Amino acid sequence: MTGNPIINIRHAAKSYGSLEVLKDISLQVTKGQIVAIIGPSGSGKSTLLRAINDLDPLTSGEVWLEDEQVNKPLPPRQYETHINKVRQNIGMVFQHFNLFPHLTVRENITLAPKMLKGITGAQAEELAVEQLTKVGMLDRIDYYPSQLSGGQKQRVAIARALAMKPKVMLFDEATSALDPELVEEVNLVMKQLAEEHMTMIIVTHEMGFAQDVCDRVLFMDQGVVVEEGPPDVIFKNPANERTRNFLRKHL
Ligand code: ADP
Ligand code: MG
Repeated sequence: MTGNPIINIRHAAKSYGSLEVLKDISLQVTKGQIVAIIGPSGSGKSTLLRAINDLDPLTSGEVWLEDEQVNKPLPPRQYETHINKVRQNIGMVFQHFNLFPHLTVRENITLAPKMLKGITGAQAEELAVEQLTKVGMLDRIDYYPSQLSGGQKQRVAIARALAMKPKVMLFDEATSALDPELVEEVNLVMKQLAEEHMTMIIVTHEMGFAQDVCDRVLFMDQGVVVEEGPPDVIFKNPANERTRNFLRKHL
């Protein structure tokens, strides 16, 4: 795939005290690419993902969203305005659903578009209907999160992120807190997004899913990208011993 990157991470490094969590990571993701990040627990996958929208600010290095530097050094008030705008373009789905428990599905989805995009209630409503239809949850529009299964909550969380019409979607182990029988319904929604060429970065422990859906796989260990390549190469013929060891345990 060609074209300018949507996401461009340059020499990302992150430390917590003396613990180096990310060590000089560079990554470019172009439009429509679907990138999987795999690796052992504690290798820095979540930190890297959260650095993309500056939820976990880097110690050094740069993150760009198209032609805008996400982690631009700015005075606090300017930074707030800047980062709020940037984050509208980056949809994020976490392991835990993070829906507002006191709001219905409809309200969960319309809240941010109404507040941040300056659209009318009716337009926001239309967005909610469109996105809930996409994830197969329209019939639950007036439910509260507590009335939904984990898989349904996660589908609503995806719809909520999509309602902002983001340029990229980030998933951090979106299915790892789900009962096994609920994983597939969420995977199906993500597969559908892949078919629509949504740009996605997916941290996952599901190797089968990564192999089926993603264009590129990055294997991270101890804060570095040890190896990356197309799924066929990474899963069937990895070059690096650490990758092979990890896959032996997880395939
Ligand atoms: P992964 O998602 O691959 O499991 P993380 O990015 O969550 O890894 O964590 C990478 C490392 O950073 C781990 O050693 C973790 O303990 C450490 N870490 C993450 N967040 C913090 C924090 N807020 N303070 C200190 N250490 C942290
Ligand atoms: Mg993690």
